[in-house]
This record gives sequence, structure tokens and C-alpha cells, in this order.
Amino acid sequence: MFKLVINEERCKGCRLCVEECPGKNLRLSETFNKRGHHYIEILDEKECSGCQRCALICPDIVIEIYRSFPKESNGETNNEPEVKRET
Ligand code: SF4
Ligand code: SF4
Repeated sequence: MFKLVINEERCKGCRLCVEECPGKNLRLSETFNKRGHHYIEILDEKECSGCQRCALICPDIVIEIYRSFPKESNGETNNEPEVKRET
């Protein structure tokens, strides 16, 4: 399973990632960020294949994708970064 971390304040609502997602799993918000742009939201994280296409096409480095690993024996979840882009 994958987790998207979206920096809403960096998003300018250009929709490049929305068009790029093969599962059509991204949309623009109805509300605005502080810069007056609609920002992206994921519809259903469980449906994300982790293909990274949205993160790679975004010119503003808004999206980071992490792979979620099953809970370890001590009960803690270990989240290792799948894609980590420096801002
Ligand atoms: S990682 Fe792939 S499937 Fe998941 S939201 Fe981004 S483009 Fe869509
Ligand atoms: S996340 Fe990036 S590619 Fe997607 S709408 Fe925002 S600025 Fe555009």
C-alpha cells in the first residue's frame, strides 16, 4: 500500500498529475490554498499503484510517495520512503 504526502500550499492546480494518473485517482479540491489555487487530493489511497507518475510529472515537487509496510511484530508500522524528492 502507498501513501501520498501532498504539499497543498505548493500546488498551483495545473492538473498535470490529474491527467497523468492511470487510475484517475487524483482530483482538484473544491477549496483554495493560501495562494488561491485549487490543490490536488487523492480519491482513494487504497487504489494507488505507486507508479510515481504523478510525482515525476509535477513541476513543483508537490507529491511524495511512500510505501507502507505491514505492521512489525512490536506493533509499530515501518514506513520507508518509496519516492523522496528534496525540495
Ligand atoms: S502514484 Fe500513480 S496511481 Fe498513485 S496517485 Fe500517483 S499517478 Fe495515480
Ligand atoms: S500537484 Fe503538481 S502537477 Fe499536480 S496540480 Fe499541483 S502543481 Fe500541478
